[in-house]
Amino acid sequence: MITNQKRQPRGIFSLISLLTLLVSISGCDQANTNQKTSVENSPQVQEASQPSAKTKVVTTFLPMYLLTKAVAGDAADVEILVPPGTEVHEYQATPDNVKAIATAKILVKNGLGLEEFLDSTVKNAQNAQLVEIDASKGIKPLNEISLVETTTKAEKDHDHTIGNPHVWLDPVLAKQQVMNILYGLIAADPENKTSYTTNAAAYIQELDKLNSEFQQALQKKTNCTFVTFHDAYPYLAQRYNLKQVAVVQIPEDQLSPTEIQTVVNTVKKYKVKALFSEPGVDNKLLKTLAQDLKLNLRTLDSLEKGEKDPQYYFKAMRLNLQTLETACQ
Ligand SMILES: [Zn+2]
Repeated sequence: MITNQKRQPRGIFSLISLLTLLVSISGCDQANTNQKTSVENSPQVQEASQPSAKTKVVTTFLPMYLLTKAVAGDAADVEILVPPGTEVHEYQATPDNVKAIATAKILVKNGLGLEEFLDSTVKNAQNAQLVEIDASKGIKPLNEISLVETTTKAEKDHDHTIGNPHVWLDPVLAKQQVMNILYGLIAADPENKTSYTTNAAAYIQELDKLNSEFQQALQKKTNCTFVTFHDAYPYLAQRYNLKQVAVVQIPEDQLSPTEIQTVVNTVKKYKVKALFSEPGVDNKLLKTLAQDLKLNLRTLDSLEKGEKDPQYYFKAMRLNLQTLETACQ
């Protein structure tokens, strides 16, 4: 399915199509404004921008910060609501978050039901001018690709009523998120269109390169089956023909015998090749368990925590690629 010959031109074609798209947008800004963004309470595009103050953009959590900062560069001030290292899935908004949204012009979210804290926070901020950008607009969510084995004590990671929200972990879908963010920023802040467009094109080129690297490295490792402890990788798995066969949801602090048995049964049942934990999770029982099963316990980064530098996306994803390559031998 994945061929080598297609790799080279793909980046160039994407860039060309992006630029073509942008040229066509630039010709009809006014007409497109209302459709391109999900503008709540639909304010007219603000013409009276203060020349001295930069546009304030708030983003929800790290991946949205990284992609938005990549597009905005220095043309806008980009803030983050959920501090990296704090769980986005069960996040409780703070008064500072409400203040940040109240004074922002644009809010960028991942969507797909991930930011459960957002509805009430936005409501409390009472910012009628706020433009909301849903970065996952137009992306068809996956639902039941991975089988979830839940242990009794484990809490639910997040409801998948809308679909699995972890689309940013597929470089191709991340590209689509960058495009959504780009359209949204241009519509809300047309003055900086040139900067946004240039920045986005450069970042998309890097995403294309990353995608090529994944394709090349993983093309002979199809159907590599793995178990994770966080249902974060179905999009990545689907893109590169890997199999996230099961998600074992367990508490991070300790494992009960029942939970250990669940993992053992899952690994045997699905002939699992790899077991993936998360960076920063140091679970000795999990390590022992992996040893008993003769599987290496490795870490995959869902990018929900990490460095606030747009390049962190590539750094973390390349480490993920190395991990997958090694684990799927
Ligand atoms: Zn997650």
